[in-house]
Amino acid sequence: MSSSTQSDLPFSVLVEALEKISMTSSRIQMTAHLVELFKKTPPAVVDKVTYFLLGELWPSWTGLPELGVAEKMLIKAVSLSVNVPESKVEEQLKAAGDLGLVAEKLKLEKEHLGKGLLGFVKTVGEQLTVLRVYNSLTRIAHATGEGSRDVKLKILSGLLADASPREAKYIVRFIEGKLRAGIGEATIMDALSITYGGGAQNRPLVERAFNLRADLGTVAKVLAEQGIDALRKIKPQVGYPIRPMLAERLSDPEEILDKVGGKGLAEFKYDGERAQIHRIGERVWIFSRRLENITHQYPEVVSYILKYMKSREAIVEGEIVAFDPDTMELKPFQELMHRKRKHDVHVAMREYPVKVFLFDLLYANEVDYTSKPLIERKEKLKEIIDESEVLKLAEYLLIDNPRMLDEFFLKAIESGCEGLVVKAIHGNAIYQAGARGWLWIKYKRDYKSEMIDTVDLVVVGAFYGRGRRGGKYGALLMAAYNPELDVFESVCKVGSGFSDEDLEKMPEVLRQYVVPNKPPRVVVGSIEPDVWIEPALVAEVIGAEITLSPNHACAMNIVKPGAGLSIRFPRFIRWRPDKGPSEATTSDELVEMYKRQLKAIASERKALEEA
Ligand code: ATP
Repeated sequence: MSSSTQSDLPFSVLVEALEKISMTSSRIQMTAHLVELFKKTPPAVVDKVTYFLLGELWPSWTGLPELGVAEKMLIKAVSLSVNVPESKVEEQLKAAGDLGLVAEKLKLEKEHLGKGLLGFVKTVGEQLTVLRVYNSLTRIAHATGEGSRDVKLKILSGLLADASPREAKYIVRFIEGKLRAGIGEATIMDALSITYGGGAQNRPLVERAFNLRADLGTVAKVLAEQGIDALRKIKPQVGYPIRPMLAERLSDPEEILDKVGGKGLAEFKYDGERAQIHRIGERVWIFSRRLENITHQYPEVVSYILKYMKSREAIVEGEIVAFDPDTMELKPFQELMHRKRKHDVHVAMREYPVKVFLFDLLYANEVDYTSKPLIERKEKLKEIIDESEVLKLAEYLLIDNPRMLDEFFLKAIESGCEGLVVKAIHGNAIYQAGARGWLWIKYKRDYKSEMIDTVDLVVVGAFYGRGRRGGKYGALLMAAYNPELDVFESVCKVGSGFSDEDLEKMPEVLRQYVVPNKPPRVVVGSIEPDVWIEPALVAEVIGAEITLSPNHACAMNIVKPGAGLSIRFPRFIRWRPDKGPSEATTSDELVEMYKRQLKAIASERKALEEA
């Protein structure tokens, strides 16, 4: 019978291939064994065979349950299947360290015994097939609730009882997640293109299909059943994640511009979690950079999409970023990590609110945009999104010289971003799914600089709170002292670090210093507070680092024309009632701190280069 008319494959054939593969480390040989296996595999089950090879029942992003079989249950199933006490299995496991091997050995012993006593090799059971094993494992994965333990155990021990010793070894290893004998997706794609794709020359087509639809089982099946032309026609499908396009990295603006062809689109590099968002009608999926399904972690993002996306079917990409609802400032990635640790998603949503900045569009209303140039993708994205405070388009600027690039970089840093991603805008600047290439170049600092010392700054203004802080003050405008001119120069807006009590008492603390207009000795940049405060109160503040800023007055034009100094991610530590405003940190001191920071960065860079 030819394989094409069959609809199943003896499990032993798959196991034999796995055994051969486990004995080689040569990729060429591994591929040859896989080709041999695929040639015997009927197209109807090639997806299942592929999943087995990958050591999974389905791609993890499907959100379908995992097997949920703990080692203890597996030991019990092995013991039941060969009719020996659990303690014996455990003992052998201690010695061998691989439950798969133990299962194989015990089954062999049992067979031997049966043969010796009764004169036949296999005592009971039917021959296992790929479908039978797959379906049994699927049932195990789906068994939930009361009694599910018994159900799982029954199916599993039945499966192992019917398995040959070698089959048992691989079933156990699969369940333990220890199957992958170095068979990577790349090797499987090699073998698929040789077996069904007409040869290695069509490997790029297989890879393209996999990049657009991150499900190698499905890709294998389409290829095996319908041929390479069908793969050519594969386009993104809502609900199936697309492997993300990645950026190269450079730290010289001229070089960056050169690489993208003299001009490009410089975009804020937001410091959050990448999200690929799929929508069809009322259904929304969110996939992470690693293609995990993270929809349940961000219910509010689902609702933003339903509310502000005009297209009923689309795949877009963006960054989910935590923000402070009181100051509306963006917060660093770590905030999202805190959010993930919360078990109750409603608490997480309340304590760590997020915004989404969309930067790309991959699919909309049946059209595959991955093969279209960036500008076209951006235009369409703009067309289908009704921007709001919580769902925005990423901020970008078309640039054609290094100075523009650097200025925009400063703006990005000051806005709480990590730097920029500079993107090519020529006609071939497509969305390269699954590839790290020069069409996107990230420009962030390749060093870590830390603000070690705290500074003492003077309150010169206050901002009304929003969200939880509605009706109170939410943030303060802080200034450094410039003794030469005897003025207070704004440095940063502080909204973090206050305890509930600090916030509660703030109106009282500030009341006697509130003035209707800007106090004459206060100098600010483009950021003005809701309420002006006479310089009197001093607070200790720490931040991530000192940055150049066009928006604050501190040391304006001293370090760089058009730029003052600011503090990134500033945090209130405590009031300093022991200090008067003229004892606050001076602008010159901040310049010194900035210079020291630069030196530290330079030596860190040097150390990096020497390493
Ligand atoms: P990194 O650790 O630097 O974020 P990465 O390896 O996760 O890098 P890269 O492709 O090298 O990923 O860098 C781009 C990353 O930057 C994206 O994965 C995405 O999460 C993030 N990002 C933030 N803003 C943008 C933007 N405007 N365009 C593209 N990516 C952005």
